[in-house]
Amino acid sequence: MKNYETKVKHKNLSSPKRLALTSALAASLVMLPLGETPVFAQKAERNTLSYGELIQKIKKDQVQKVELDETEQVAKVYLKNKKQDESPLQVRLLEQNNELINQLRDNKVDFAEVSSANSRAAVSLLINLMWILPLVALMLLFLRRSANASNQAMSFGKTRARFQMEAKTGVKFDDVAGIEEAKEELQEVVTFLKQPEKFTAVGARIPKGVLLVGPPGTGKTLLAKAIAGEAGVPFFSISGSEFVEMFVGVGASRVRDLFKKAKENAPCLIFIDEIDAVGRQRGAGIGGGNDEREQTLNQLLTEMDGFEGNTGIIIIAATNRPDVLDAALLRPGRFDRQVIVDAPDRKGRLSILQVHARNKKIDPSVSLEVVARRTPGFTGADLANLLNEAAILTARRRKEAVTQLEIDDAIDRLTIGLTLNPLLDSKKKRLIAYHEIGHALLATLLKHSDPLNKVTIIPRSGGIGGFSQQIYNEEMIDSGLYTRAWLQDNITMTLGGKAAEVEVFGEPEVTGGASGDLKAVANLARKMVTMYGMTDLGLVALEGQGSDVFLGRDWMNRSEYSEEMAVKIDRKVREIAINSYEEARRIIRENRSLVDRLVDLLIEQETIEGEQFREIVSEYTQLPEKQLAASS
Ligand code: ADP
Ligand code: MG
Ligand code: ZN
Repeated sequence: MKNYETKVKHKNLSSPKRLALTSALAASLVMLPLGETPVFAQKAERNTLSYGELIQKIKKDQVQKVELDETEQVAKVYLKNKKQDESPLQVRLLEQNNELINQLRDNKVDFAEVSSANSRAAVSLLINLMWILPLVALMLLFLRRSANASNQAMSFGKTRARFQMEAKTGVKFDDVAGIEEAKEELQEVVTFLKQPEKFTAVGARIPKGVLLVGPPGTGKTLLAKAIAGEAGVPFFSISGSEFVEMFVGVGASRVRDLFKKAKENAPCLIFIDEIDAVGRQRGAGIGGGNDEREQTLNQLLTEMDGFEGNTGIIIIAATNRPDVLDAALLRPGRFDRQVIVDAPDRKGRLSILQVHARNKKIDPSVSLEVVARRTPGFTGADLANLLNEAAILTARRRKEAVTQLEIDDAIDRLTIGLTLNPLLDSKKKRLIAYHEIGHALLATLLKHSDPLNKVTIIPRSGGIGGFSQQIYNEEMIDSGLYTRAWLQDNITMTLGGKAAEVEVFGEPEVTGGASGDLKAVANLARKMVTMYGMTDLGLVALEGQGSDVFLGRDWMNRSEYSEEMAVKIDRKVREIAINSYEEARRIIRENRSLVDRLVDLLIEQETIEGEQFREIVSEYTQLPEKQLAASS
């Protein structure tokens, strides 16, 4: 039984790997429920014939007909001298029956192949196979997995290319917008790649590396792809973080592989994203240096030195932290060119929006100009995302084309948060309404404040109960040239929320919801005192503009003033805040009936647009000039 079974197995599994497997399986197979013992084993002696006897009989021409049953491994032999109705002789066959078949053919014996007549045997065979097949599959899966695992462990130091290669990026300079200076500078790199002769003819050394510096999402990767696309060369890319692996030496070997592949495909462009992950100053950093990273960096430097400027390989690296890079990387002959890729200004945002509007159905009534104005601080990636969000909203609302409404909603969604279901009318909702109306009313009544865009109490993700939004003052905010009056009114407006809560509900009822407001106030007031010299503390700028902890190595020298001065500054900041707060409370108090009416309307409508808001306010009091201008 066991024998028989294994034989069947061998016949079904052909590849050598599987054969090896079956012997391992054989032991377990014995325990499987096997079917009836095959018929031939029970046949009476006289009815059987050995293989050798059969061959002999064929040679002697005594055989009339042979039926070969492959499944049963048996041949039925009809002898010439026997009667027709007599049952045939059974011959057990061997694995390979070539000789038999040759003999049959040579002696012109009639032979045919038949499938097993014994259905019982076939069924039992099938049942067995049904047991075995999943088992085999399972084993194979197991084997494959463990094989993979051991491969991984064994070959980590060998070529395991983790870089990507794109033969054609398909990106053109047209697809990159809003960073014109960077594009102009890199136009030259395209020429290097396309016609290096132009430069080498006059003895100019082609730069090897260009470092793109800028915040995330500004289009550094896109720009690098566009260079390759414009020059029509392959684009190799790898991220700095992929260089740095668990095993020492992997990073360095990856660098080697990358450059080897690149040389085979020159002219081409190598793009190293997040180079700061490998290119940090060596031996620096808390907790000592990182051996693996240093090796990788050294290998990178070696490779960069190892090829001549005219091999047609240009390396572009991107980072948002140029300050942490090792000086050796920035030396001539390496990344000696730095190109700043900054967040776009309004014009830049407009052209980026135009690029991404190309493949979208935008209603002609939409003004991308207005969108650009409303999206200060948005990077290229943010803007691309914005238009996509708007398109999704449009589809969800089953509209034909994206309108301004969807774009506005998408902006709020990205800048403030996802809208949640409105609160039921409750004390909490009223409190939020008063808070927001407080901001909105002050924004409308203060002389130098920016006009209200809208106020809403539709809650948003991130614990936002509502917000009041002003029309963005791009002149002042983009240039950073704030006037004292504007700052002052902004502080008052920001305190309007808390002021309204206190006026209406009294001090004990005030919630912590205004903590963000208070922080903003402290920030603005502090700037007035220490940066702009707007108080009687003097005309000295006490703090530099760039107290940007993120970028500077010199973040330590922040306080350039004495303890005594620090106390004075604190006192001044508090004074500004307290005065503004008193002013805010006074305005709310004097307009209490207006505030109540606006709150009722806000609770009913959930959102009041700036236009409607100003209309109502103007029924009660004269609007300042700036506000009137916004309404006309
Ligand atoms: P970075 O590499 O600087 O982080 P990416 O190049 O990955 O930014 O930008 C992500 C996506 O944002 C791009 O694929 C593109 O769709 C969009 N994008 C970013 N900057 C621009 C730009 N200047 N012009 C057009 N699209 C841009
Ligand atoms: Mg990128
Ligand atoms: Zn507030």
